[in-house]
Amino acid sequence: MNAAKESLIWRRAPARIYNLGSPAAGKLRFGHEERLWAQMGEKMRQTALKIPVFLVNDKQMDVLYPPRMQKCLDNQKAREMLSKYEKDDDLTIDWLEKKAPGDFSGYTIFVAVGLYVSCSSVAPSPVVEEVLVRADRDCMDAQAEKSFRDLPRPHIYLCPERIVEAAHELGVEPQLYLETAYYHELAHALMDSNPALKCSNDDPYLTLWGRTIEESAANWITYTRFQEPDVYLVQKIMASQPLEYRGYLALGEAPLYPLPADVGPSPAEFRRELRKQFRSVMQGESVRPMLFSKVSVQGPPDYASWEAVQKIIQTLLTPVLLAHFGIKLDLRYPEQKLIRLMMPYFQGMNLAGEMGAQVPNRTAWGRVFQWIEYKRKGAPCDPGYVIYWEELALFLLASSVKTSL
Ligand SMILES: [Zn+2]
Repeated sequence: MNAAKESLIWRRAPARIYNLGSPAAGKLRFGHEERLWAQMGEKMRQTALKIPVFLVNDKQMDVLYPPRMQKCLDNQKAREMLSKYEKDDDLTIDWLEKKAPGDFSGYTIFVAVGLYVSCSSVAPSPVVEEVLVRADRDCMDAQAEKSFRDLPRPHIYLCPERIVEAAHELGVEPQLYLETAYYHELAHALMDSNPALKCSNDDPYLTLWGRTIEESAANWITYTRFQEPDVYLVQKIMASQPLEYRGYLALGEAPLYPLPADVGPSPAEFRRELRKQFRSVMQGESVRPMLFSKVSVQGPPDYASWEAVQKIIQTLLTPVLLAHFGIKLDLRYPEQKLIRLMMPYFQGMNLAGEMGAQVPNRTAWGRVFQWIEYKRKGAPCDPGYVIYWEELALFLLASSVKTSL
């Protein structure tokens, strides 16, 4: 083993990057002088410094990637189904998913270039051994095997073989592809507000809607690291990904609406109406009064003086309300509900700043914030939440089919 070579990646990188047996790793650069680190912004870089990365070859990646995640929507079949989205009120994401019950008929095999692992459970030792058997020992770092056996959580896997191959196929620089892939996995880490969820059956990632929102949000965070002109090529990379990943721009397109909180066990008729309302919100229609009358509002607002709030609203927020929520301001509007309506917008503004986004779309960031908070709450399956996410995911998928290369 070559001692000088083995420390190159690890020593010059701000984060811990281990080559666990990938010959193609030498084609990618992780040195501290690379813009890979500069573009991250502070918060993502801080996260990167905490999370070790293992570079693995494609055969190792096949063992590491959980089989339940090795599927994605088939572009052509999903396109046929989603073409009915704007015409057919009865089309739900459930319907899209059930058309392909486990037999992959509506799905195709997904080939991963990266993986973020947060779960605190220990990987089965046969998997660990199998990964090590498949390593190319000539290019493996001395520290890599020990670190891998310790299985620090969380950690990230990246597959240089697939990064280089996919970059060549698309005609982009492998280094740019690496940046996109690495930021994407770090974005999952930034949104990981509840690691315990990842090991449970409540993990929304196990559903098509959860996967669509998580992957679109991860791509949104990734996309906002780049500036022109590189961002054009990043868009090209993302356009080559599965449909579930491509709704990142659409996250900022539909008007932002607050998570409606628990509605409890509710009659089918109410759930149908709720779905209809969300769909019309996603499709750009004004918020209908029904959502405010039936959905409960929890907790008192923090604002001490309603008068002060009124003044701010009158001077600053009237155009925002109209543009983002389609609401014509009426100051008799119940204070609590109005503040609740505005909150995601402000949360989005804060999160965009905190994440060091080059692209400050408050609506998109508001949605990412909601998603992080939803997971932090343990991803409750109350229809008040789930219908909102299902309708958002369907909207994202419907707009993704329009961006296929
Ligand atoms: Zn992902």
